[in-house]
Order: sequence, then structure tokens, then C-alpha cells
Amino acid sequence: MTVRFPFDNTYARLPERFFARVAPTPVRAPRLVRVNEPLAAQLGLDPDWLASEEGVEVLAGNRVPETAETIATAYAGHQFGTFVPQLGDGRAILLGELVNRAGVRRDIQLKGAGRTPFSRGGDGRAALGPVLREYVVGEAMAALGIPTTRALAAVVTGEAVLRETALPGAILTRVASSHIRVGTFQYFASRRDVEGVRLLADYVIARHYPDAARAERPYRALLDVVIRAQADLIAQWMLVGFIHGVMNTDNMSIAGETIDYGPCAFMDAYDPGAVFSEIDRYGRYAYFRQPALAQWNLARLAECLLPLLSNDTSAAVAEAEEAVGAFTSCFEQAYQGKLRRKLGLLTECEGDSELGRDLLEAMAANGADFTLTFRRLSEAASGDGDDAGVGSLFADPSAYDEWGARWRRRLEQEPTDAATRRAAMLAVNPAYIPRNHRVEAVIRAAVDEADFAPLHELVKVLSHPFEAQPAFARYADPPREHERVLQTFCGT
Ligand code: AMP
Ligand code: MG
Repeated sequence: MTVRFPFDNTYARLPERFFARVAPTPVRAPRLVRVNEPLAAQLGLDPDWLASEEGVEVLAGNRVPETAETIATAYAGHQFGTFVPQLGDGRAILLGELVNRAGVRRDIQLKGAGRTPFSRGGDGRAALGPVLREYVVGEAMAALGIPTTRALAAVVTGEAVLRETALPGAILTRVASSHIRVGTFQYFASRRDVEGVRLLADYVIARHYPDAARAERPYRALLDVVIRAQADLIAQWMLVGFIHGVMNTDNMSIAGETIDYGPCAFMDAYDPGAVFSEIDRYGRYAYFRQPALAQWNLARLAECLLPLLSNDTSAAVAEAEEAVGAFTSCFEQAYQGKLRRKLGLLTECEGDSELGRDLLEAMAANGADFTLTFRRLSEAASGDGDDAGVGSLFADPSAYDEWGARWRRRLEQEPTDAATRRAAMLAVNPAYIPRNHRVEAVIRAAVDEADFAPLHELVKVLSHPFEAQPAFARYADPPREHERVLQTFCGT
């Protein structure tokens, strides 16, 4: 057999206490749901082979490629503010790492592949619904240009998983820059294993942030660059109306990718207080709290790195505080820069951030759809464009008219011509996001009727979020009243 997966494993070379060696548990009757052809090609894999009987056996964990070294990684984490010293991959098994022709290294992991030493009470399995949600939303994020883990494939297992009811089981093949989390550092730090923290930091620098190795103080540089990556990521979430829902430190990737799509959601009408996750009872991870909670998580990372920052505790604490404090300005800068682009402003003027803020306030007060407001603003951006299309999204259209007049006066100060501006805005303001009611409909059809056609269609539409796609215009529509999804569930 030719080597289908030329794995080149580095994490499995780390000391044994970093993971548990464990093989996937075979499943009864695997069947392919979907393979991600463009992603397979990027990884140097043959999508046709992945879809073959042999390929599906690998994607289901029934057959382990010779070059794989299957492991479940160890990590800890703060879950809703409470520290849990041992979490780890309870149902995800890393097959190995692939390096493509461009030299890009990616983890290939099976999520839902069976029990591991970290499973605690869990069954090590995943239900079809959450697997499809992760596939759809993760791929939508990637198409939106937002750093994220990816979905290479989804298979059904032919076995039921018991949640509140019996549900079809499934496995997601997840692709990530790595699966190292803030919680991975916490795992070693909480055991006072400074050597483990140092080895992990060195590994992360070598794998993700090689520039930090050349910095005067590499560990401080590492902390700074992780903080910048997260600030940038959260700014991008905020500006597409994404709510992660479970931003625990074990769900925050050191590589700066969106990871662990559980009860996540995109908002329809703009509402800063939006919370969808059924388990987020107190709104800890509400939309508007995401930047502050990211910073809180990064403070936990900084604590782990203290012994590496300086031998002198108070000097280390001062450095950590400075680094974590910088999150606020990093985030603000990323957010304001991207918000200006969404408004068609290529230059920066005094009053721009107030202009953006006032639009958002008017949207919130008038229940305006987040995605459609910016999209229609883009369409209106060509000279004397159609402002009524934007205004009609507001309960009181005059709330927009007033703001729109200010916006137009501001646009007069821009050097760009109207057509260029319109094109630039259409390229950053998507028409299509994975709206909750659409994701829900895909899951219902798949779970209740084994009908995957809606999945394939939604994935296709969302793979070109900035294109008009007239035949699929309905996917841009907000839910009608009876279609609105008010709560999302982890379903783990
Ligand atoms: P999550 O809420 O998905 O981020 O997972 C939190 C922790 O619970 C991680 O350690 C997971 O590996 C573990 N976990 C979640 N679902 C399961 C399951 N079905 N079986 C075993 N462990 C699980
Ligand atoms: Mg998780």
C-alpha cells in the first residue's frame, strides 16, 4: 500500500507525560457523510481515496495508517471560571501531523473516536448534530478568512450514542495548526512541572512562532504574540457577530485559531448581550464579554509562563501584567481597523470609532440584522446608492437615516472612488453566514431523515460568503419569527 498519510509526528516525540498513547475504537458500520475536497488537496491528500472504502475506514478509526502515532493529549482548563486540573482529549485522538508541499504542518485528529484515559465519565463519542455544526461553522469561518480549525471529513459510525435520547454517532476529522491550548500550559503549571511548561513553550515557539526564538526574551515574545493573535481573532469574531459560547481556557488555541465549536452561534439581529448556549446560564461568554474573557484566559496563560519570564517573581509578574494589559489596545486597534474597513473607510479620521459605535448602537436599539446591515451598506456605498435598503432593516428607519447622512459626509473625505469603495466593502462584509436556523435545519434533516442534501448545499453556499449567489439569495435572509433559534446546545 502506498503511504496515504505521510505523517511526520513531533508532538508524539515530547515526553510521555504530555499525552496518552491510545488507538481509536473501531465502529460498526462507517459511512462517509462528506469529504472536504479543497482541504484534502491543500494537505496533499487524495480526496477520492479518502472517500473510498479504505479511506473511510481510516476516517472512522477502524484502520490506523502505519505512519500514525495515535495519542490523546493532556490538558487542563478553567471551565466557566473553575479550574479543572485534568481534562485532556476525552474523545479526540490525534493521528499525526502532515506537512504539505508548502511546508505547512497540520494536526489530523479524529473527534469522536472512542474512549481515552481522559474520558472520565464520557463515552468518547460524538453525535452527528454537533459534528455537522462543527463542519458547517468551521468551514464557514475559514471561508470568511477567520483563523479556525478545519473539517476534513465527517463520517457516521453506524452506532448510536446515548445523550438525552439515542442519536446517530459520527466522527469529525479535524485539521488544526495544532491542538495546543491555554489549558495545555495550565496542565503542567498546575503540577508545578516547570520543565514541562518550558518544553511546551519551546515546542510552541518552534512550531508556531519561530520569530520569538530570535527575540531578546523568547518567552516574553511568545506571550506577546499569542496575545496579539487572540486579540486579532476575537476582533474578527466580533465583526461577523460570532459567539463562541464556551471560551474556557481549554478551548483557546495557542495558534490563534477558533477551536471547539460547541454551542456557538452567529447573531441575526445585533444584540451585544446575545447568549445562545444553554449551559452559559449567567452569560459569562455573552457576545460583548468575549474580548474581556479572552484577556482573562490570557492572564491564565501568563501565570503559567511566570517561571520562564524571570527568576525574580515580582519582575515576572510585572512583565506578565504588562503583556496581558496590552491585550486591550491590541484588540481595540484590530477591531477599529476592521470596523473602518467594514464602513468603507480606508483612511483614519478622528471620530471614526464614534461613527462605528453609533451605528452599532442604532442597530441594537432597532433590532437591525448584523450581517445584512453591513452588506446593504456596501451595496449602498456606490455614490447615491440605495439607503432605503439599509434603513428598512431598522425598526425605526429614521435611526439609520440620521447616521447614514453622517456616514456619507465622512465618505466625502475618502480618496477612493465610489465603485472601488463598494467592491472593497463587499469583500469584507459577507452576504452569507451560517445562520442558526439554517444550521439547525441541516442537522434536523441529517439526524431525523438521514438527508444530507441540505448539508451539502449549505456548505457550498457558505464557501463563497462574499459572492452574490442570486440562486441562493434565501440563505442570506434572517430567520422568520417561527424559525428563530433561541438556544444552542453542546450536545457532547
Ligand atoms: P468540550 O466541552 O467539548 O470542550 O470538552 C470538555 C472536556 O470534556 C474535554 O476534556 C473533552 O475531551 C471532554 N469530553 C467532551 N465530550 C466527551 C465525551 N463524549 N466523552 C469523553 N470526554 C468528553
Ligand atoms: Mg474543548
